[in-house]
Amino acid sequence: MMQFFKQKNNLIFLFIILLLLASLSGVSYFAYAKHASYVALSAQTADVTSAMNEAQSKIDELTKQISDYNAKQTQNESEKAELNSQLEEALAEKDRLQKDNDALKTKLEKLNAKKRKDLQKQIALKNTDQADTATSGICYLTFDDGPSDNTLKILDILDAYGIKGTFFVIGTANRSYMSQITSRGHAIGLHSANHRYDIIYDDINSYLKDIKQISDIVYKQTGIRGNIMRFPGGSSNKVSEKFCRGIMSDLAVRMPKLGYSYFDWNVDSGDADAVLVSKDTIVKRVLTGAKGKDSICVLMHDTTAKTTTVEALPDIIEGLDAMGFRFAPLTADAYGFHQNINN
Ligand SMILES: [Zn+2]
Repeated sequence: MMQFFKQKNNLIFLFIILLLLASLSGVSYFAYAKHASYVALSAQTADVTSAMNEAQSKIDELTKQISDYNAKQTQNESEKAELNSQLEEALAEKDRLQKDNDALKTKLEKLNAKKRKDLQKQIALKNTDQADTATSGICYLTFDDGPSDNTLKILDILDAYGIKGTFFVIGTANRSYMSQITSRGHAIGLHSANHRYDIIYDDINSYLKDIKQISDIVYKQTGIRGNIMRFPGGSSNKVSEKFCRGIMSDLAVRMPKLGYSYFDWNVDSGDADAVLVSKDTIVKRVLTGAKGKDSICVLMHDTTAKTTTVEALPDIIEGLDAMGFRFAPLTADAYGFHQNINN
């Protein structure tokens, strides 16, 4: 044993091992402390919620009693006085409980906001430096058909979580927000200048003209020449067959040769299935769709009507984070997520 300590190399080796152990325990303590504070917050939230529910059921009970007192008719003066005093008492009790309940609700909102801030910090930490180098477990959040009145809200949410998204923009939308997308570090992709299937899929030249137009628009707004794109309707769309048979088969080969990486998606948020899909449905569709997949490209829409997509976004990000995904903006070399060509 003493022989071991006499050699300088061995001592250096031992020192390195000790250093590694110390940093490992430091990191795990930090993670534990973070997690512990989150667990404590969750427990507090649950306590407040159950206290709130209890107060509410008492309020309901009292409301019923009060209406019973009101319904009781009597001629006897002393009985009347007794009923009246019971009624006053119940009303006062109800008032007190209502105030308690309001206070609890405010407390719950504050706790939830704190929890969300905590999660935002954790997710931002995890995504720093890791998203770009990871080869699996990546999530690309994509937003089509913008920019719109919701673009800045989407950007604020993504920024709060310290993550980046990708916007496939169109020429007929609110162009003035395009520069915000890129200046805040998010990816911009070409979708279409006019998004009219009958025009763009009329023939190859019409499509190429349209993609050049949107490329010029994006360049003018952001100074960036877009090299990632998404076909309106996706590469698997069948609508184009009505206007030009075989056009998607041609474009799927032609566009990469012209220097464009095209992207479809492998998780559909379903936010375009109706004019307004409920927030919960959108969250559920994304989280269910992501299950069992290695890396995901999520289709969402950035149009003024899609307010529930904005509302769903925090839950989507937190849900996907809990499933182990890291978030990254699309780049030309992430090339993939292609669907089967149907025309
Ligand atoms: Zn579209």
